[in-house]
Amino acid sequence: MIHSIRGFNDIYGKESVIFQKLESLLREILKLWNFKEVRLPILEKTELFQRGIGDDTDIVEKEMYTFYDRNGESLTMRPEGTASVVRFLNEHKLYGSDRYLKFFYIGPMFRYERPQKGRLRQFHQAGIEIFGLPHPLAELEGISVLQYILSRIGITDTTFYINSLGCDLCRPGYKEALFSFFDNKEEHLCEDCKRRKIKNPLRLIDCKSTKCQENLEKAPKITDFLCNNCKNHFDELKNLLFLYNISFEENPKIVRGLDYYNRTVFEVHSKSLGAQSALCAGGRYDRLSKDLGGFDLPAFGWAMGIERLISLITDSSDYSEEIDFFVVIIGESAKKEGLTVIDRLRKAGYSVEYDTFFGSVKSQLRRADKLKAKKTIILGEDEIKRGVFILKDMKEGKEEVVEINKLWKGDFVKWSF
Ligand code: ATP
Ligand code: MG
Repeated sequence: MIHSIRGFNDIYGKESVIFQKLESLLREILKLWNFKEVRLPILEKTELFQRGIGDDTDIVEKEMYTFYDRNGESLTMRPEGTASVVRFLNEHKLYGSDRYLKFFYIGPMFRYERPQKGRLRQFHQAGIEIFGLPHPLAELEGISVLQYILSRIGITDTTFYINSLGCDLCRPGYKEALFSFFDNKEEHLCEDCKRRKIKNPLRLIDCKSTKCQENLEKAPKITDFLCNNCKNHFDELKNLLFLYNISFEENPKIVRGLDYYNRTVFEVHSKSLGAQSALCAGGRYDRLSKDLGGFDLPAFGWAMGIERLISLITDSSDYSEEIDFFVVIIGESAKKEGLTVIDRLRKAGYSVEYDTFFGSVKSQLRRADKLKAKKTIILGEDEIKRGVFILKDMKEGKEEVVEINKLWKGDFVKWSF
């Protein structure tokens, strides 16, 4: 038997139903904030991610599914959505006719990581991107819709961390301070961080190894290095969050693993997720579009892990899919009428199932129960002769006799569920 690839999951049953419900809820809510959906390709040129995300990030260094196609072109299965959305927007020259654009996407992402709880190689993200707004109102749009999504799903056990990474003016000073701070602590750094220290000292801040974590307590904080503009931006954002009653915690350790962020970065964590506690992350990326050869375009966005989100949904609702009707057909002469009834009901908008093997009445009823049919229609030879069927409410156990004619005439019995 051939098995699936490690870290690539089949989504089915209850999880698939929750997935669908989540997707419709996300679409419904994102519409209220006027986000438009984009469905972008899963494969992109490798260069897009190398230049977009940055060469010395975890994703590009070691997590990408990259291969050469038959034409010798290097392609990569998207590890995230932002670079693709920026590529799309520039390619179609969407900016210009409209200087304020909001998009969302939902779809699979691919990263070659060690599969474990909350960490897959194919996982799904829902994300938003807002373009054209340098003001922290962009952050407010993105963060308020996220908070509303989480509250509508009923996820309350979350902490929302924010930080500012400054800009090209003030970050170099901070990087220098970090470099000096770690300069005489080389022996306390993990191997990765020894390398990062030279290439991008900012990445030392979110190193997960306990060895490095100990150092970090005393490390200089970016927020002490912000220039006036960045500081004002951060202060204004915090005021806007207060206005919307969105609680947050400032956390100088949030630096994000991707190169393209500036100013605001944030992460939403939940203790219930265990070790992989990040549910959602994002920030401002004013340089990315230009870096990719496109418009000079301020932007803000976030992405949320759907599998992690689903694992937080603990409500005990029965997510198994119910059906409206099960049609029990008894005897040869009832088959024709039964099959027609089934077809009518389906086309009238009801979900219907029946036993294609036409088993005993008992086994057909058992199947109706198993499929959680709300109502069962029983059609036997006797009923056909009388021009009726028996309608059984499966929850209350009540039965009534209904004229088949009612179905044909179109003055259809409207069952409410
Ligand atoms: P982490 O610190 O957990 O590796 P990340 O910073 O790499 O997360 P992002 O690139 O910001 O994650 O992606 C946003 C969200 O996507 C994460 O908060 C998480 O919920 C989800 N996510 C990221 N990588 C994976 C993965 N390998 N498997 C499942 N979900 C993931
Ligand atoms: Mg990661």
